[in-house]
Amino acid sequence: QRVSDSVLEVREVTKRFGGNVAVDALSLSVSRGVVAGLIGPNGAGKSTLFDLLAGVQTPTKGRIMLDALSIERTPAYRRARLGLGRTFQVARPFPALSVVENVMLGRHDQSGEAILPNWFTPRKVHRQERETLGKAMDLLRFVSLDRLATQPARVLSGGQRKLLEIARVMMGDPRVLLLDEPAAGVNPSLLDIIMDRIATINARGVTVFLIEHNMDLVTRLCSHVFVMAQGRLLCEGAPDTIARDPRVIEAYLGS
Ligand code: ADP
Ligand code: MG
Repeated sequence: QRVSDSVLEVREVTKRFGGNVAVDALSLSVSRGVVAGLIGPNGAGKSTLFDLLAGVQTPTKGRIMLDALSIERTPAYRRARLGLGRTFQVARPFPALSVVENVMLGRHDQSGEAILPNWFTPRKVHRQERETLGKAMDLLRFVSLDRLATQPARVLSGGQRKLLEIARVMMGDPRVLLLDEPAAGVNPSLLDIIMDRIATINARGVTVFLIEHNMDLVTRLCSHVFVMAQGRLLCEGAPDTIARDPRVIEAYLGS
């Protein structure tokens, strides 16, 4: 396999918490341009792996490659600037800020400071802020939340918060997008919108790697699925093959 075929590569990565091995000499490779899924029973190490990929945690051992770059010691904010975006399983927007302000917070800024518009002195709003606002509004239209732009984020439902997370992370123009359970707790009417928007983001050239328990979503969106159990890669392959694999069924029954 050529290096350029994989955009994200995990090489023999181990993460220990005291005596507990959450990720155990795991290797996997996410191909450029795909939607890949990560499934596995509770405690398998999926969220820990995403924390290692995003830079929230540092591996005890092993390497993580983003294209040709070794990033396992790179701080999270720099990984984001390198094009690695992630959403959180439990979306916690700033409740008192407006929906559009929450999206604007997803922008990378040289100083690391948030750029917020000053609604009261519009003539003093800088060109850069206007551009940021315009982009945030475009993204809110994309996730169908534009009518709620000026509402405080606390009014959003669980599913709408997932859509806000997607808009927020897209503000940073990721090349690779890590989605932690994008459909968890989402009602069926919003589920279709979320799936459609993930597919659209992928069609625009973003590689997507997602953790999800909803096998319908995994089967419909993912071309490749990794199965983790007890910190290791149990198997990988096409979603229909995975769903019928006796080792996968056993791992879920045994948990
Ligand atoms: P999953 O997301 O697949 O359910 P996790 O990655 O959350 O699994 O957890 C894998 C294992 O690592 C579990 O045994 C969990 O208790 C442990 N673990 C995860 N995070 C920590 C942490 N910060 N400190 C100690 N143990 C942790
Ligand atoms: Mg988890």
